Amino acid sequence: MDVYKELGVKKVVNGCGTYTVLGGSRLHPSVMKAMMYASKSFVDMSDLHKKAGEYIAKITGAEAAYITTGAAAGMFLSIIACITEGDDKKIKQYPELTGMKNEVIIQMPHQFCKYYKVFRYAGAHIIFVGTAEKVKPEDIENAINEKTAAIAYFVFDPQPGVVPLDQVIQIAHRYSVPVIVDAASELPPRENLRKFIAMGADLVIFSGGKDIGGPNDTGIICGRKKLVDTCFKLGPYNYDEDIFIGRILKVSKEDVIGLITALNNYIKSDEQSKIRKWERQADFIIRELNKIPGVKAEKVYPIIRHPRPACVPRVQLTLNFKNKRLDAESILTKLASGDPSIRLYKVDDKIYINPQCLTWHETRTILNALKSLLK
Ligand SMILES: *Cc1c(COP(=O)(O)O)cnc(C)c1O
Repeated sequence: MDVYKELGVKKVVNGCGTYTVLGGSRLHPSVMKAMMYASKSFVDMSDLHKKAGEYIAKITGAEAAYITTGAAAGMFLSIIACITEGDDKKIKQYPELTGMKNEVIIQMPHQFCKYYKVFRYAGAHIIFVGTAEKVKPEDIENAINEKTAAIAYFVFDPQPGVVPLDQVIQIAHRYSVPVIVDAASELPPRENLRKFIAMGADLVIFSGGKDIGGPNDTGIICGRKKLVDTCFKLGPYNYDEDIFIGRILKVSKEDVIGLITALNNYIKSDEQSKIRKWERQADFIIRELNKIPGVKAEKVYPIIRHPRPACVPRVQLTLNFKNKRLDAESILTKLASGDPSIRLYKVDDKIYINPQCLTWHETRTILNALKSLLK
């Protein structure tokens, strides 16, 4: 049975990347199988979370880890852990913040990453420092005060004008302020699973449902034991103690096992061969599309204003047609209206194809659709 068809939902050929709005990731059959196995039994969810956390801690080199419903949820719990400092009285008092640290420092150039708003939803005040072009170490240092709950860092490296993470950590730790790192889509490279923790970041957050290939509604918080334990304590399993803000972010046993299985596959997989496949897909599209007059296709590795990570090659299409009605916007609309709906993305007036989520079959589907539109 084609359940999407039954519901009247078109399938999408995803040339954008691990976009949540398109479903995030594909689950490998081994992940689905593990989730089906997980569903056969009940378990003590606190026990499952603790053991799963210990497993992820080993992989990441962190003191502890916790699985939540996504990276955004991870940021939400992380800032509450920093605001309440793991103090039971404060945790019970939350979200009433009187007497608590409630400021989070963010560098102005990171403002474009809208996920910072998650901290605001948790009740924190955002203190932006520096300008959109340049932040100096003393901008961060001068903003630190007795109300500072955390400094948040969004990894979009290499990003000009930003005080780099190692320096941010140095400054923060001089004042005993924790650093939260949003590394949601900074995989690959796989070494990033350990890198930011090794640099001394206090909490590092990854999406489970992007390149790791876990369920799209999972995410990882890893870092210092006291803070991670607080994320765990926040819920969803402590309602007897009247603490359960985390109840709204509950993760099923199937999701926990799915993510653990995906992560286990991920650390064993051949990362280089995956990247080489993306390169070959991009090269193939470029070679074919450059045969069409008025189309310039190139390979680029954009750093910001594009879906991450930066190491995935993108096909950049520059259109130079006399026919002004065939602009990037109208091409994307036409492709999306077909069945299957083909989704590419644009930045300014250029179209981009991201091979990260494309099979070879889908790569040819995109190519054929573009050829018949552009010829
Ligand atoms: C995707 C993403 C998130 C959110 O991750 P989810 O797992 O979808 O909640 C947060 N920050 C950045 C930079 C991201 O790319």
